[in-house]
Amino acid sequence: MNFQTTFFVCLCIQVSLAEKIRYDNYKVFSLTPRSADAVKALYEMEEMGMSGYNFWSRVGPVGTPVQVMVPPYKVGELEATAEKVGMDMEVMLGNVQEQIDAEARAETEEESGFGWTKYNTLDEINDWLENITVQYAPNVTLLHVNHTYEGRSIVGVKVSFGPGNENRSVFIESTIHAREWITAATTTYILNELLSSENATIRNLAESHDWYFFPVFNPDGYEYTHTTDRMWRKTRVPHSILCSGADPNRNWDYYWNHGGTSGSPCTETFRGPQPFSEPCCRIMSEFITSIGEQLVAYISFHSFSQLLLIPYGYTPEHLENYEQIYQIGLKSAEALAQRYGTQYRVGTVYETIYQASGSSADWVKGVFKTPIVYGYELRDQGQYGFLLPPDQIVPTAEETFDSLITIFREYYADVATQ
Ligand SMILES: [Zn+2]
Repeated sequence: MNFQTTFFVCLCIQVSLAEKIRYDNYKVFSLTPRSADAVKALYEMEEMGMSGYNFWSRVGPVGTPVQVMVPPYKVGELEATAEKVGMDMEVMLGNVQEQIDAEARAETEEESGFGWTKYNTLDEINDWLENITVQYAPNVTLLHVNHTYEGRSIVGVKVSFGPGNENRSVFIESTIHAREWITAATTTYILNELLSSENATIRNLAESHDWYFFPVFNPDGYEYTHTTDRMWRKTRVPHSILCSGADPNRNWDYYWNHGGTSGSPCTETFRGPQPFSEPCCRIMSEFITSIGEQLVAYISFHSFSQLLLIPYGYTPEHLENYEQIYQIGLKSAEALAQRYGTQYRVGTVYETIYQASGSSADWVKGVFKTPIVYGYELRDQGQYGFLLPPDQIVPTAEETFDSLITIFREYYADVATQ
């Protein structure tokens, strides 16, 4: 390498480092509103997308804590607001950048390539998906759904151990929200277990269904969280001069814009200018439609809050087989708690967290009446939020798989007695 190339390489590295958004001394607060005014104030802060406050969870009623990332220059203002309207403040993370650095260190300390002791990049995940199609041929086939806004394929796999399972298809979705890294780590772990475990229950579960896994549903956003902004949530479609991205889990064409979304492109819950404005949602909806009638289950994975959520998000009504899915959900949460004591709450999106319309889960349940539809909000309860330490990946994946196994066991036991 001559001097010129060395200089060029160094310059590039510096530029790419400089481009990464840093969160030095940003704090994450858990804010608990104690009055109606405090709830109103939180809603106003959330709606002002450019205000600097970054909401890690959604605002709920009085007494419900909400996690918000706050830049250092805003802490004083927030303290004054909290005092004025009646809001408890608790620091969850004292310096967000430190947590991001720790996560990055885990990535460089571990052996390069794919694994579950660190969070994987988009390329590492896609390479691994390709590798398992070779390792487990002919039971695994690669799926490319084209194209996202930035021209990527959404890469998935179909797992099938033979004909006859078409009408027992299961669809697994994760990382529709880009910063929720624990979700892709968990679903790839479960996929690996289904392929490699010698446990009889797991073998039976794996081989009696056709499985569709799409670990990174929003690849443009996920790539962006690795290259530029760890805290990015949305798509990368530019919707205004200042702000990019719509919330891909508020963009689906089923009761779209029926509450719990924002019309402002600078907010985290921007629903998009129209249903399916986001290419990743539209192309995946077309793919899901091609197998929609065959689905027995659709499970979407989010983080964080430790919830097992049931449709719907747009309405408080309990529709279709709510009671059955609620009872199974309770047993599933019980199974999840057994290994490490992790506590989950179970209920509809609307009742458990907040009204939210235009989600993929509402769309699947509403359009195809799929019997089993759940949305997981994985660990934790806000201690680390989206920056869950890598040493929690395997425990999170293990307990989640316990609960998933229970869902199917209970569902078929229920069907057998009807
Ligand atoms: Zn999410």
